[in-house]
Amino acid sequence: MEVPMVVNDFLFRAESLYGPKEAVVDGDKRFTYAEFAKRCYKLAHALSDLGVVKGDRVGILSPNSHHFLESFYGTSLIGAVLVPLNYRLVSEDFQYAFSHSGTKVIIADSELTAALDAIRDGLPKVEHWIVARYGDAPVPDGWKEWEDLVADQPDTAPPDPGLDENDLVSINYTSGTTARPKGVMLTHRNFYANAYHFITHLGISHDDVEMWTLPMFHCNGWGGVYALTAMGGKHVVVRGPEPELLYSIMRDEGITFACMAPAVLARILDFEGASEYDIATKPRFVCAGAPPPITFVERLEQERGWTFMQIYGLTETAPILTVAEPKPHVNTEGDALYRIKGRAGHASVGVQLRVVGEGGRDVAWDDTAIGEVAARGNMVFKGYWNQPEETAKVVRDGYFFTGDLATVDQYGYINIVDRAKDVIISGGENISSIEVEDVLYRHPKVLEAAVVGIPSERWGETPLAVIVLQRGEKATTEEIVDFCRENMAHFKVPRQVEFTEELPRTATGKLKKFELREPYWNAAGGRRVN
Ligand code: AMP
Repeated sequence: MEVPMVVNDFLFRAESLYGPKEAVVDGDKRFTYAEFAKRCYKLAHALSDLGVVKGDRVGILSPNSHHFLESFYGTSLIGAVLVPLNYRLVSEDFQYAFSHSGTKVIIADSELTAALDAIRDGLPKVEHWIVARYGDAPVPDGWKEWEDLVADQPDTAPPDPGLDENDLVSINYTSGTTARPKGVMLTHRNFYANAYHFITHLGISHDDVEMWTLPMFHCNGWGGVYALTAMGGKHVVVRGPEPELLYSIMRDEGITFACMAPAVLARILDFEGASEYDIATKPRFVCAGAPPPITFVERLEQERGWTFMQIYGLTETAPILTVAEPKPHVNTEGDALYRIKGRAGHASVGVQLRVVGEGGRDVAWDDTAIGEVAARGNMVFKGYWNQPEETAKVVRDGYFFTGDLATVDQYGYINIVDRAKDVIISGGENISSIEVEDVLYRHPKVLEAAVVGIPSERWGETPLAVIVLQRGEKATTEEIVDFCRENMAHFKVPRQVEFTEELPRTATGKLKKFELREPYWNAAGGRRVN
């Protein structure tokens, strides 16, 4: 028998087997799985009434919220394709992604309606604007209110629109090797495979209570939206990861599980008031997005007695590729355990993983030879939305090439040591260096600019701008930084600026970014990512 693998199965299972169990907590709102499912069904019907049909794109711009969680299923139930964007970007970015994806309906949290109103004229294809009100925020002109829209809708599942497992669930925009972000097309089959990885390797059960430290827009919360629901676990929504709030949520809600970038873990570990909170549940914290310092692993496990887990993956792989599970036949005594947990991990079930070196050959498992990580399996995306030429650059010979450089140890655990792609990862979010350079080039005093990632204690990595000024010009760091702040999302702004006479180039004129980065990374023990 062949039954399409459709993520809606997860919601149906939770509703039928865990109906009375608490599903979602968001501030003072609480919903059981029966209530959560009904809210998803009502949204699906409301969207259908607005004319949304299978394949149509529905954009969402929101911090984590129960509305955001409901929007994943509210769209997938009718075969609509969710376009969740990083809400920390700026209006120009929103306009690009929503028009590039041909978004028909936009859902926004109250805090983001103004940023969207500013670009309405640039989004003529958007037919409906829905506001998910936060607290008692007013409904702005030109917006339909979510709760009004769903109030009188049926609370039963809408008819299956004839879904195939290769239909799209979402298009997730990710910054990378091009100045503009690319739309990663992810299918039901991709997220189904990922849900199995998530459940199996991270040990998800109906007893789990996930604290949503991870932004839901980031690859649909690394697929946690599906995995946790499938198992009947509880979602505890967190709007912003302020340490004080996180500690009280951990204590009051009995948190057992959370996913986060190392930058968020750093804030949790460094929180001075930690000892005032009795966290009896000893949660499992899953880290990815950047390699965490080994001291983070030690501090979490030794000082707190909690569990550290690391995974590695990309939006293009829905996202889990590897997991750093200690194997029984591998020495885990003393520090050895933390060294394993500090690596990206070994392939999860169903992932065929290679680390490809010189001449297209797999590198030796000697933890010295460096190659590019490539993967094959059902979690690999369908391609970049409307950019087949970009897809062809990364999917070659049946493998997806990640642009990450790694070594492999004798047991098959990979360690990410560098990136072949021009991407900086700061606080878990990607920054395209090309995009930052484009903005710098718009500054009238700038002749040439190069942007590279350098280590940062707080953010893991941060952009450094190296600038050659126009002849006879003078500029200050502050002036450049202010210009960037006016023209891009704040998390992308270079924290440091260097002025130089000339940028290092190869004989063929190619910029030698490696040389610019090198002095900053020498102290990082051979690694070139953080
Ligand atoms: P994104 O598509 O935004 O999720 O970013 C994916 C990128 O994050 C990967 O290509 C890696 O460069 C980086 N990354 C993810 N997980 C890890 C990890 N555990 N260690 C090192 N880098 C990671």
